[in-house]
Parts: sequence; structure tokens; C-alpha cells
Amino acid sequence: MPIDPVLLVHGGAWAIPDDMVDTHLAGVRAAMAAGWRVLAAGGDALDAVEEAVVVMEDDETFDAGRGSFLNRDGKVQLDALIMDGATLRAGGVGCVERLRNPVRAARKILSESPHVYFVAEGAERFAAEHGIALCKNEDLVIAREVKRLQEAQAKGAEGQPDLFAPTDSHDTVGAVALDGSGNIAAATSTGGTLNKAPGRLGDSSLIGCGCYADNKTAAASTTGWGEPIMKLVLAKWAADRVAAGNLPEWVAAEAIHYLEARLQGHGGMILLDARGRFGIAHNTPRMAWAVKTGKQESSGISR
Ligand code: ASP
Repeated sequence: MPIDPVLLVHGGAWAIPDDMVDTHLAGVRAAMAAGWRVLAAGGDALDAVEEAVVVMEDDETFDAGRGSFLNRDGKVQLDALIMDGATLRAGGVGCVERLRNPVRAARKILSESPHVYFVAEGAERFAAEHGIALCKNEDLVIAREVKRLQEAQAKGAEGQPDLFAPTDSHDTVGAVALDGSGNIAAATSTGGTLNKAPGRLGDSSLIGCGCYADNKTAAASTTGWGEPIMKLVLAKWAADRVAAGNLPEWVAAEAIHYLEARLQGHGGMILLDARGRFGIAHNTPRMAWAVKTGKQESSGISR
């Protein structure tokens, strides 16, 4: 029996203001269309999540690629991970400053390296050696984010983003997919948190934290305040509960409850198993998401 492909994408979970709803929805829908083109043509889940994430990295609406939050030094520092549920191969980059599309470099690591994870200059060197053009960090910086950083820094210690507050922006992007061969994959990409310390790595690019995929369990991508998500290894936590026989819809909600109950964390998750069952959950006021199967297509700003 042919397997019906499924694709889910998210574009961050926080109190997305009314005047930013349209751009978030347009962004996740465009990402979904790009990923779906791959799946509809019989392509792999891995290619589908890569293409979907690239669209959102290129979209300045999101905290990924150009337009990301700036760190304390006024630089963009990006993290990304992609993982293949069929083989458990994965590729991750952390703290890269000269890559427009870190998920492309992560994919090269997955496909062409015996290693799983590269950081900083080593990751950029690996990307360049594998045909990915490097950019200047300034090419990734936009005026909106310079202003946002200046405002945060002008407020001093008291004005720093309250990482406990679900109202602070979390525009990390991610995708999970099931392809016609029955394989699942996941990818997550982020600029991290506003005014972060240089060198700070979030959950997004860490296996099992912000991203995970295993055909035998599930594919997950998370967004939100990264430190609690990382401490709970939340994507793997959720995948294991799907493997234990629970429905992804229930598990995604449980994972977000656990994040809040255990560490007062906030964020969102998309979760998909190899049978095409999925869940979308968040404890923030809003989360941008889109889902498409052979039979249904929907997107929204809350769930
Ligand atoms: N999880 C990301 C991080 O902490 C941020 C986000 O999702 O917006 O780096």
C-alpha cells in the first residue's frame, strides 16, 4: 500500500502580535509548499524538511538565517540540526556566523561527514569545503534586530528578556515529514535568543532536545526557551512516549505540560510518527504552524 506523505512546519511559539500574524502565516505556508513539492514528487522526508526550513531561514520574519536575533556582541549566531529517521544519521551546526542557510550545512554534515556536529569556524570551514558559499555576518543582520538589541541593552539588567515569559519572541523554525517510503525526518534552525552571550548554544540544534527523528519512535521539532527544553531532552522524551504506544497528539501536549510543570518552561512542539499520526502543542499564547497530508491542509496561529 502506498504511504501518504505528511508534512508539518512551525515558525516559533510566543505571543505573536496581531500585526505579525499575517507574515508568520505566509511564512509557514510558503515553507510547507516548498517541502510538499518534494514529497509530492516522490522525494525523501529529509529533502522535504530541508527545503521547508530553507524557506523560513530566508524569510526575515523568523529567528533563523538572515533577520535572526542578535547576540550581546551584535552578531547573528546560528544553530541548526537535521536528522533522518531511517538511519539515525544527523548533521548539526552550532554558533555559525557566516552561513545564510545553516540547515544546508547541517545536511552536508549528515550526508558527507562521519561526524554529526560541527561548531563555529570549523563548521563554516566544513561548509565551504563542501561547496556552500560563506557570507559576511553583516549580511545576516537587519535594522529591525539592531534596534531590538539596542532597546534590550538600553534597559540594562532589568530590561533583559524574561526567559520565563511566553510573550518574548521565539521565532525558531522547524519541520517534520513522512515520505512515501515510510521514512520520517526532522529539522530545526534558529538564531537563538535575543542578547544571548556569544557562544551560547540553545536546544534547537542538539539531538533529542530541539530536534529528533527515528522511524521507530517519532520525529519532533521544538521551539521556545531553550535551556529548559535542553535539560529535559524534550524531543527524545516525546519520541520515546510515542514508541510506548501513545498518540502523538496526546504526547505533544504532555511534553509541553511536562516542560511547564517541571521547569516552568514555555514553548511548542510538532511531533509526527511513521504512521502519519501527528501532534501540535504549545503553552505560549500563539504558535505559527502548518500541516499538509494527501487529504487535508491547514495552518494556524494557535492550537
Ligand atoms: N529554542 C531556541 C533557543 O533557545 C529559541 C527559540 O525557539 O526561539 O535557542
